[in-house]
Amino acid sequence: VAEVRAFLRDNLPADWSGIGALSAQEYAAFIEEWRTCLVRQGYLAPAWPVEYGGGGYTSLEASVLAGEFARAGVPIGGPNDEIGIDLFGNTVLKWGTEQQRAYYLPRVISGADRWCQGYSEPDAGSDLAALTCRAHLDGDEWVIDGQKIWTSRAMTADWIFLLVRTDADAPKHRGLSFLLCPLDQPGVEVWPIQMMSGAREFCQVFFTGARTAAGNIIGAPGQGWSVGLTLLAHERGSSAITMPIIFRTELDRLMQLARECGANRDPLIRQRLAASYTRVEALRFLGLRTVDALSRGDELGVEASIFKVCWSEHHKEVTELALSILGPRALTPTGRKPLSAIRTDEPGAPNSSMSWVDVFFNARAGTIYAGTSEIQRNILGERMLGLPREPAAEANSK
Ligand SMILES: Cc1cc2nc3c(=O)[nH]c(=O)nc-3n(C[C@H](O)[C@H](O)[C@H](O)COP(=O)(O)OP(=O)(O)OC[C@H]3O[C@@H](n4cnc5c(N)ncnc54)[C@H](O)[C@@H]3O)c2cc1C
Repeated sequence: VAEVRAFLRDNLPADWSGIGALSAQEYAAFIEEWRTCLVRQGYLAPAWPVEYGGGGYTSLEASVLAGEFARAGVPIGGPNDEIGIDLFGNTVLKWGTEQQRAYYLPRVISGADRWCQGYSEPDAGSDLAALTCRAHLDGDEWVIDGQKIWTSRAMTADWIFLLVRTDADAPKHRGLSFLLCPLDQPGVEVWPIQMMSGAREFCQVFFTGARTAAGNIIGAPGQGWSVGLTLLAHERGSSAITMPIIFRTELDRLMQLARECGANRDPLIRQRLAASYTRVEALRFLGLRTVDALSRGDELGVEASIFKVCWSEHHKEVTELALSILGPRALTPTGRKPLSAIRTDEPGAPNSSMSWVDVFFNARAGTIYAGTSEIQRNILGERMLGLPREPAAEANSK
């Protein structure tokens, strides 16, 4: 803790009040500079081995670092780093060959490669194994045809990792492979999609005879499902420490708003604020449980699903509360939009009605991405509570 606090003291302005206090132009420039500073210090991927450009810290130490960063209101990397480091990098560390680790991981750190995630398709989201995007080997290259959708940050990425069907005759979970494909080529088209908040965070990605080297596969052909699941556990479990901190900062900001407009005297609003506070505290303890499991080297299992349901449902409720507090002002929002279109507005951001209304829209997405709440509840029911398994869709259609 002392080391990280000294680093923050030495590298942030004395009057720092959180990245949300910066203007949109200052924000982008700050993130670039900050990322470089993190790379120099070994803080960008703190838990990766030093030989790949990481910090060589334990996962517990990395969690402490992330917690201190969240408290200080600074990001842990650039826009594509959560996907490149938490998802792609951690999966390559587990499943990649030594040659793949040595090639790809330092390139994530240096920023030479920015990654996005190609799992979902128009007819394969929750039922991911139903995906139809396909690939076959042609000499020493894979040729890919099909479509991915909801691909976050594909517009700023230059590589995509994707689950594709490489054996149409195998049972649906066994015919998949985990391929890596460069986006900048004639066979790939990236079309941004506008969200209801107006932001463009994700894209459709079309593959028409796209090509990638035969060696750009993680795990063996047909092993894609197992590789893909490792990645999903990281997607659901990461941020266990940071999330409760940013939600607490957000709740403090909401209480400030309630005081400013007198809503804090309304007993029903007070009740909902108290319930939100209780949920954030429960999240903090759940987060600690996840970090404890990770520090023991355990794979993330149901803890990740519990955490995912709790934080995403909390965020929907707390942003609905924000709209109740704003009342009619929520219908004519004014002030600055959030700097980031995902999760909370940034720490230090102005307490504007526009900020809350936008975050309210964005919070709807939280119960969908990284596995919907319904799917997480199915996982918990079946794997934790031992309830009967959900009947398979194929069985229903007979
Ligand atoms: C902001 C955002 C970013 C995203 N980023 C990415 C990304 O970078 N890469 C990527 O690959 N994907 C991404 N996704 C896609 C996301 O993973 C999918 O939207 C999600 O898995 C749900 O799939 P779907 O949209 O096809 O909905 P469906 O699977 O069609 O589900 C529709 C509804 O039916 C419910 N449902 C489905 N099956 C069951 C069941 N068995 N039991 C009970 N209820 C069920 C669902 O919970 C949901 O309410 C993103 C999504 C969002 C919103």
